Amino acid sequence: MQQTYTKSELREFLSNYPLFKPYSIGKFSRGAEAYADPAFLIEERFLHYCTNEHREAHFLLDMPQPQASYWKTQEEDVINPLVLNTNNCIDYVMHYRGKCISCQKHSVDFLLHIWSISALPSEYGNSLLYDEQTKKHIYSEIEPEIEVFIEKVGIYPNDNFFIDTKVEQFLYPESRELYRNAQKCLHESLGQGAYCYLSHVVERELLLLANDMAGINAVYEELIYDQIEKFKEKRDFHYIATILMQNLPKALHGLNANFFIEMYDLISLTPGTISDDEALEVSKTIHLNLKFMIYLLFEEKHPVVAFRELR
Ligand SMILES: [Zn+2]
Repeated sequence: MQQTYTKSELREFLSNYPLFKPYSIGKFSRGAEAYADPAFLIEERFLHYCTNEHREAHFLLDMPQPQASYWKTQEEDVINPLVLNTNNCIDYVMHYRGKCISCQKHSVDFLLHIWSISALPSEYGNSLLYDEQTKKHIYSEIEPEIEVFIEKVGIYPNDNFFIDTKVEQFLYPESRELYRNAQKCLHESLGQGAYCYLSHVVERELLLLANDMAGINAVYEELIYDQIEKFKEKRDFHYIATILMQNLPKALHGLNANFFIEMYDLISLTPGTISDDEALEVSKTIHLNLKFMIYLLFEEKHPVVAFRELR
């Protein structure tokens, strides 16, 4: 089956693939999407973290100068010998730059390697293949079955790993940087670091959540503010947990006797009393619980989601 080139497939590669993970972009074909023309990637859209706006945003791919001027003016139907190796396989590394569409400020640079394992047959052409010796384009009616791959061999700055868009969207801006640091630590298996950042995020966010409840539900307003003040003095989370439990999706009830008390217990371990491995395990549980809670709030269209969107 011939795999055809589509925009969304490449978006998946650009947005989510780590370094050195080959992605099959499909069979070599003629024309503008031939993959033998490095300009084929220009104007690809993808999702990337914008450090300027502190959120995931759409980026547009381009080439930096001066190579952009060169490749954009090449004839589409002609294979430039620069993209072939000595075995006549497609094989080139090209520098691309993605720019955030919304702010036009943050950019990310990619070095991309595009290659085929099998060679372009020498008789292949239909105005595509250029013969170095005869200085002529070779013509052929045969459509070769050549699979083309792409991989990232460099990303700068590399700050786009596993960012959970829903979680980021839900968190207050001040928590996002802490959350991103927690994600970095989880990614690199740094248990103590992940624990430190996540416990900060969760404590902040649970108190803010209670605060939001007061903003949404006038009946609770005074009680909640009062309990938040008491918490700050005595560090007893019990009352806030009870209020949160009464106001949040029923599905959370099925999980634990009180989801919020458990969350608070998880983030209240004394630093240094657990090993790095234990800290990593606890951090993963905290992260799962946090994600679970946020996804549930979105799913049930809880008023707090709309309330936060108005910030
Ligand atoms: Zn931006």
